[in-house]
Amino acid sequence: MSPNRHRPGLSTTALHGGDSEIGGPGSPVALPLVQSVNYVQEIGTSEGQKYSRYGNTPNAERLQKRLAELEGAEAGLLLSSGMGATSCAMLALLRGGDHLVTSSWIYGGTRTLFTHELPAMGIEVTWVNPTEPRGWRQALKKNTRVIFVESPVNPTCRVLDLSTLSMMAKAEGIALVIDSTFASPINFRPIEHGVDVVIHSATKYLNGHHDMLGGVVLGSEPFIDEVRQKMMVWGQAPDPFACWLLERGLKTIEVRVQRQNENALRIAQWCKTRKEISRVHYAGLPEHPDHAIAKKILKGYGGMLGIELAGGGDATPGFIRRLRIFTHAASLGGVDSLICEPRYTSHAHMTSEERAAIGIPDGFLRLSVGIENVEDLIVDIEQALPE
Ligand code: PLP
Repeated sequence: MSPNRHRPGLSTTALHGGDSEIGGPGSPVALPLVQSVNYVQEIGTSEGQKYSRYGNTPNAERLQKRLAELEGAEAGLLLSSGMGATSCAMLALLRGGDHLVTSSWIYGGTRTLFTHELPAMGIEVTWVNPTEPRGWRQALKKNTRVIFVESPVNPTCRVLDLSTLSMMAKAEGIALVIDSTFASPINFRPIEHGVDVVIHSATKYLNGHHDMLGGVVLGSEPFIDEVRQKMMVWGQAPDPFACWLLERGLKTIEVRVQRQNENALRIAQWCKTRKEISRVHYAGLPEHPDHAIAKKILKGYGGMLGIELAGGGDATPGFIRRLRIFTHAASLGGVDSLICEPRYTSHAHMTSEERAAIGIPDGFLRLSVGIENVEDLIVDIEQALPE
């Protein structure tokens, strides 16, 4: 193929995308960390003014272009956290009097934003069970501006079919927004499926090392300009060191995520053979309710899986205590394997009944599978299972 028509693969973009030309002899190969908050300013103009809170530091800017290329978006913006990204994206899209339609299967922090903060600003919110296609259409109103989904869903690993939703959103002139944190651009690129805005908690797969906090919003250039205005005013810009760590972590995203995909699939297959485990939630298993759609739209089934112990909620503390490699900690997507109970972390603010209604019974354990040797991870789970 002619070099002009060749499109680089994602692993190459993760390393070299954006304006990442390396200079002549003596230039550093890794972009240096520029921690300065202030920059020398041109006299007599405010053009080109740089300041860390504006998000236009060298470490942030290069990375934004690279992330946009990875997602196939026109533009991208880095923010101080995943929640900062979702909040600023919503502030840019919605005003008092507008209406948001959201999937009821979303991360707990986003749920709090939609339950408390947006309604306090006069924004109306309607919740839809995403498996009921007619529910979306019935929820629409004249003032609906945004449809929000998360896929794969935290922590149940359900995978949503976006095809009819994106057609409906396009026809009605409504912005379709997705939190794609669980997939990472290696497993799913939502813009290719008609989504307008993609959000990530960069804290998770994009960085992959559990050592920085960040968020990303991706979409059209004019929209990203609006999110940038919100970010500046609400003080959500990323710290340069967090950007530097994110750039370093991002370099290996494809090899990390592919290994996590492989490890999680093996663990899911093994878990379903065990009588001590009553249920395995992983879209890579043929019996999973979303297996067909996941197979069609995802490039990998992901490194996240859910299990339910046969002993229920009473059996989980002992199991977690006996684990030696899986660390009991919230968050996800890093190279080290983690385990948590959503009833005490992301979904702690809901009642047991509310959680059960969205597929998270007490005793549900969420595994974030890392890149360790998979046999070691299986042995770790096996030795921790109840007698
Ligand atoms: N979206 C999802 C799916 C998450 O799991 C999380 C955090 O766990 C967030 C958003 C929020 O990200 P952050 O913790 O970087 O603010």
